[in-house]
Amino acid sequence: MDVEKPLIARVFAELSDGQFHSGEDLAQALGVSRSAVWKAVKALRELGATLHAVRNRGYRLAKSSEPLAAERILESLSSAVRTYVRRLEVVWTVGSTNTELLSRPNPPNGSSEVLLAEYQTAGRGRRGRAWLAPPGGAICLSLSWTFRDVPADLGALGLVIGVCELRALRKLGVTDAKLKWPNDVLVDERKLGGILIELRAESGGPACVVIGIGLNVALGAPLLAKIAETGIAATDLVTAGLVEPWRNAVAGALVDSCIDGLLEFERDGLRPFIENWRDADALQGKMVDVRGAVGEITRGLARGVDLHGALLVETAEEGLKKFVSGDVSVRVS
Ligand code: ATP
Repeated sequence: MDVEKPLIARVFAELSDGQFHSGEDLAQALGVSRSAVWKAVKALRELGATLHAVRNRGYRLAKSSEPLAAERILESLSSAVRTYVRRLEVVWTVGSTNTELLSRPNPPNGSSEVLLAEYQTAGRGRRGRAWLAPPGGAICLSLSWTFRDVPADLGALGLVIGVCELRALRKLGVTDAKLKWPNDVLVDERKLGGILIELRAESGGPACVVIGIGLNVALGAPLLAKIAETGIAATDLVTAGLVEPWRNAVAGALVDSCIDGLLEFERDGLRPFIENWRDADALQGKMVDVRGAVGEITRGLARGVDLHGALLVETAEEGLKKFVSGDVSVRVS
């Protein structure tokens, strides 16, 4: 028995086989009291886990909530990619997987550290906004990578990773995902995932990036409603029609695709990704509002991205305007 994990994580693991477990059975299996089990179940619910409870049968989680397991993710990687992963770790909880990797030393050039958490207490989007994900219902993954030299167009790395995510989703059977500049993955105009790139560069030296990926697998109605309150419509892989959204396979596909993509970006630059991006551009041809750092709004027609990943917007007053990633936020108007 894995007694080192907190009880909540052990209860989660017991319940995630998709079968019902009574409180009594759980207490016995885990060597704790029934009231301790009850408290852990309550805590799981409070964190947003979708738990079914049926009188006289007990509790269960959806089958797709299989616990994340480092060895299963590693097994699912291509053998070529595995040679680049020097450490892949799954933890029950952490403030933010990005913050944790940023606090560690840079991995040597050509190798990656990967960290996944079942639950983040301080998950972040851009500009510090909260990223919400329940235990068992999402992938919260960060990956660090050191470039030997700072690549041209490093500022557009979010677009590269968006394309990598799209390629991974296609392999898993989700063929209709789109990309919203600069860092969102959408299905049916709803947000399936977000990307957060953070950079630690020393001048003239190597550049270490930490790439955070939040991908929704099965959020559950209460969390979808909570995200809707922030003005964003979210979706998840189950709603997008993925019948078997096994999280370890999804995580493996993301790591595979990102590492392949980082190698391709180092070798060939941004160009191959721009073509893929253009095919999946969710904003192309739509009227958009681009909100700048101090709240100023530019309205215009989205005209795709240029070869450096900047968003092009045709405005009535100033003609074609160009926005680089940074601090702008785009909404369809
Ligand atoms: P913008 O387009 O304004 O830059 P964004 O879409 O890039 O914003 P991020 O900053 O990357 O947003 O992410 C944080 C926002 O995403 C939150 O403010 C919330 O609205 C939304 N959000 C939080 N959790 C989730 C989730 N699990 N799925 C989808 N959206 C989420």
